[in-house]
Amino acid sequence: METVKSFIDLRSDTVTHPNEGMKQAMFAAKVGDDVFGEDPSINELEARCAAIFGHEAALFCASGTMANQIAIKTHTQPMDEIILDKTAHIYYYETAGYAFHSGVSVKLVDGNRGIITAAQVVENIQPDFDWLPKTSLVCLENTANKGGGSCYELSSIIEIKSVCDKHGLKLHMDGARLFNAIVAKQYTTLEVGSLLDSISLCFSKGLGAPVGSVLIGNRAFIRKARRVRKAFGGGMRQAGFLAAACMYALDNNIQRLAQDHTHAQQIADTLSKLTWVEAILPPETNILIFEIKESETSVDEVLLFLKNNNILATQFGKHQIRMVTHLDVSGYSIDKVCSVLTSFQQLM
Ligand SMILES: *Cc1c(COP(=O)(O)O)cnc(C)c1O
Repeated sequence: METVKSFIDLRSDTVTHPNEGMKQAMFAAKVGDDVFGEDPSINELEARCAAIFGHEAALFCASGTMANQIAIKTHTQPMDEIILDKTAHIYYYETAGYAFHSGVSVKLVDGNRGIITAAQVVENIQPDFDWLPKTSLVCLENTANKGGGSCYELSSIIEIKSVCDKHGLKLHMDGARLFNAIVAKQYTTLEVGSLLDSISLCFSKGLGAPVGSVLIGNRAFIRKARRVRKAFGGGMRQAGFLAAACMYALDNNIQRLAQDHTHAQQIADTLSKLTWVEAILPPETNILIFEIKESETSVDEVLLFLKNNNILATQFGKHQIRMVTHLDVSGYSIDKVCSVLTSFQQLM
């Protein structure tokens, strides 16, 4: 529950706390030893996630990073290369795990707000020579975090899938916020799922669970991924308490993501009227990135003013601020954020 004193925390959608209903679901969870495959809640979550995306199997993981890293390890061989956008989470925020765990290199694509095209994939496939890495995997991030929550069109994924098929490449989606994209773009889970060899989902972002990610794919892929997860130290025992929170999120927190998107747009509309704002990346989902006009103020000054008004946001690049809306930020709080931003204008 938000109280008057508490911060309106827009630093990330990872800061959410489980609500009463989610905690009740966790308390009531039936659990067993998941390393033995005997946790009924984990088994149910995995089966549900696979079915939702039209795949055969799924694997519960401790984090989105772990799910992505397991996917890369399972799809590739050392000396392979993966194609992904230059701002991808897998490249930027996973401590070069692709090199450490899988011995692969990355071919970075100059996408638009984190979104790459089929033509760019084609251009970046390595020719078949002994002295070149072997391209074997394409990773798409949807929504794209550093792109400001931008989304793939279904038609673009179809084109990329056809390039992958033609060149024998696997296609993985870092879908940490895939449900945000699905709600915003209104394609179905089955439509997008049918185009991908594997998908990672995060439940600890806008879906509001405390912990948990799921990796989805065909039976053979998940069987191998399960071995990799054990080798990475990710085999958990009675983790069904966490799976129960994720299932609660599936049941209750997907459709409401549309509210978060409306809230991000509401803040963007307010910012568009303020003279100290240089530019705003139009928010497609729940992530809003905007640039400060250097001649008028600074990122530090704006963040301090917000903090003094019980609002938290983050610096994102030299002149940019990022705000992320989520289920612990009410419409009432968004109104407050908008009025505080406007009052900063009046001080100047
Ligand atoms: C958050 C996130 C992940 C996974 O992060 P964890 O903190 O390891 O769960 C992966 N990809 C994207 C795009 C993300 O935003």
